[in-house]
Amino acid sequence: MRKLFRKMQGGKGIPFIYLFVLAYTILALLWWGVLLYNQSEQITRFEKQNLVLRTDNITHPAEYQQELQRIEETEKRRSFMFFSEGIIFLAIIILGGFFVYRSIKNHIRLSQQQQNFMMAVTHELKSPIAAVKLNLETIRRHKLDEEKQQKLLDNTVRETNRLDQLCNNILLASQMETQRYQLFREDVDFSALLEIGVKEIQARVSSHTIQAHILPDVWLNGDKFMLQILLSNLVENAIKYAPKQTVIDVRLEETANQLKLSVRDEGPGIPADERERIFLKFYRIGNENTRKAKGSGLGLFLSRKIVQQHGGSITVKDNTPAGACFEITLPVYSIQTV
Ligand code: ADP
Repeated sequence: MRKLFRKMQGGKGIPFIYLFVLAYTILALLWWGVLLYNQSEQITRFEKQNLVLRTDNITHPAEYQQELQRIEETEKRRSFMFFSEGIIFLAIIILGGFFVYRSIKNHIRLSQQQQNFMMAVTHELKSPIAAVKLNLETIRRHKLDEEKQQKLLDNTVRETNRLDQLCNNILLASQMETQRYQLFREDVDFSALLEIGVKEIQARVSSHTIQAHILPDVWLNGDKFMLQILLSNLVENAIKYAPKQTVIDVRLEETANQLKLSVRDEGPGIPADERERIFLKFYRIGNENTRKAKGSGLGLFLSRKIVQQHGGSITVKDNTPAGACFEITLPVYSIQTV
């Protein structure tokens, strides 16, 4: 029974039942048109036969011709009416079918992405927990020298940070989706936030060098927590996708009365046809089997939401000579300093 139902759904594609109902409705409409046309012809034939019996063409030719003309005009009007009604019906059915098709397609895409997300998140949650557990058990069971112990502790902190970031992203994404998250706006020293954020990440990560070129004393009226998440998502992505020992460049500048924050890396970059899609919820390039880096597909979705809520925009372009460059533009905000 379940197999039959799945078959009726057409597997992962457009459900078979939808195509069947649409095709049936269109064919039924065409058949209805043919029947009406035949019926109209029959009526005309019957009326003409009746006319011959009622009026004599030879004795009353004018009356006969007049009546014949009326019958033919009535037929034309009838045909016009059901043809135009038929066309309107057909157009409505096709338009309705198109909207249903589009929403089914969206639904299928979203449910596939959600499935990917569940797989990725389950893995993402389990692997840091397993790593932390193993590290702590190793420290407890074995007498390790100071250096090894420190290494394991560093690794544990890194894993818990990953876990923390993932939980934040999941929570925020669901709150933003249901409009439950209200920005907590305050005057934020954006330059200090970036400098401190970059230093904190660099302290945890030895695989990449993070360079910061931050214009000093830039203030924003925004949500500190959100801005921290924005920086962390972009820099952590650069760490995740760019090869080890490469440089990540975080830059804050003011150009043409706008603030420009850019995060550049020397990784594989983003192909031109993926540059819009990577900001969609749960979207990840490639598929679950071929992907090496772990993730949830929420980081850039949230980043764009955060930037938009601060009145800015985010785009991605190629870095030179290679890599990705995420660029955020924000309106300049100045506060009165006493
Ligand atoms: P994820 O958790 O998968 O990293 P994101 O929303 O942060 O989710 O990113 C979406 C996708 O964009 C990623 O799966 C990755 O393929 C691509 N991507 C993001 N940042 C980079 C980057 N710096 N370099 C290359 N690809 C990236």
